[in-house]
Amino acid sequence: MNENTLEKLKKEQTPLYYYDLPLLKETVEVAKNSADRFDYTIHYAIKANNNPKILKEISSLGLGADCVSGKEIELAIENGFDSHSIVFAGVGKTDREISIALQNNILAFNVESVQELEVIASIAESLSTKACIALRINPNVDAKTHHYITTGLDENKFGIMMHELDNCLAIIKNSTSLELVGLHFHVGSQITDLNVYKRLCIKVNEWNNYFYERGYNVPILNLGGGLGINYCEPDEESIVNFSNFFYLFHQFLELREGQKVHFELGRSLVANCGTLVSRVLYIKNGIKKNFAILDAGMTELLRPALYQAYHKVEKWEAGNIAEETNESNNIRYDIVGPICESSDCFGKDVILPKLERGDLIAIRSAGAYGEVMASRYNLRQELNYFYKE
Ligand SMILES: *Cc1c(COP(=O)(O)O)cnc(C)c1O
Repeated sequence: MNENTLEKLKKEQTPLYYYDLPLLKETVEVAKNSADRFDYTIHYAIKANNNPKILKEISSLGLGADCVSGKEIELAIENGFDSHSIVFAGVGKTDREISIALQNNILAFNVESVQELEVIASIAESLSTKACIALRINPNVDAKTHHYITTGLDENKFGIMMHELDNCLAIIKNSTSLELVGLHFHVGSQITDLNVYKRLCIKVNEWNNYFYERGYNVPILNLGGGLGINYCEPDEESIVNFSNFFYLFHQFLELREGQKVHFELGRSLVANCGTLVSRVLYIKNGIKKNFAILDAGMTELLRPALYQAYHKVEKWEAGNIAEETNESNNIRYDIVGPICESSDCFGKDVILPKLERGDLIAIRSAGAYGEVMASRYNLRQELNYFYKE
């Protein structure tokens, strides 16, 4: 943090989302270059962050989009994504959303149930068009992350049940409005153990064979997203190791003639370029704890309250970001928000330099699933923004 930026920041109304656009650009470029080495395609998962500045930056660097609603499809196109680069996922696509996707000639629907397949077929037929579809298969691979962000197990609501796949193939065969273009897998989020992806590759190879034996050599294998980032040390590892990630698929996926591999990355592209910046409103010295009460809360960043997510908390002060090591005036704080919920807490027993009313507090790695989950609960004021250009 240079002093100029900090001085400007200090004049801003908080809470605000601070976005480091040069870091975003570098991250996306590294990811794209790493993927290009193996001729892999990346679709940015828009649900992670749909801020127009971020969408424009990512689309300008040539990524496709991964959408989970009709509105996301429209927003992606408005912000520069090629409509034919869009994949559309979600267990509950409405008729209206399916029509929007068809009218925009998207690359593929990631279909999650037999009934959805039938509905897409009938809407495509009524619009006299053809729907390109990928079947989302639940590979029963444990992502080993928080159970709220695990999606690839038999007990999850996502994907088509294995015993229904033959039924799907029969429907596809009998329909003139469906074209099977891919298989889709997504096992969860914030996955930092690459062995999870190795196990996924093994399952994907099996499913690829299964479809091949039934006469389908699908052109697209979509491996989803979920690559995790380092929330503990956002500066030491500001960009995840994309080349290791893609190389693993290169090692373990068995592709057939003409098959292309696609990914849907969200968090790993945008998480570290965002910081929630807040001010200390009050310090309360409790009997057992000291509380630092911020002007930002779960209404600006829900992840800690929603799934006990960890975000690094820092005091941003002149000259540099405050060092927390070896300082004799360090104090332990529970960093809490102003919202009327006990779960409105960003961190317990966080060791920080002594805080005072008005100090700027940075909650790091908030670029993914941060701003998009903001709510007006407690009738909160509008968010403010600061873009580092
Ligand atoms: C959320 C989601 C992604 C992106 O996940 P990240 O963990 O942000 O990379 C990709 N594909 C699907 C189907 C998703 O639901």
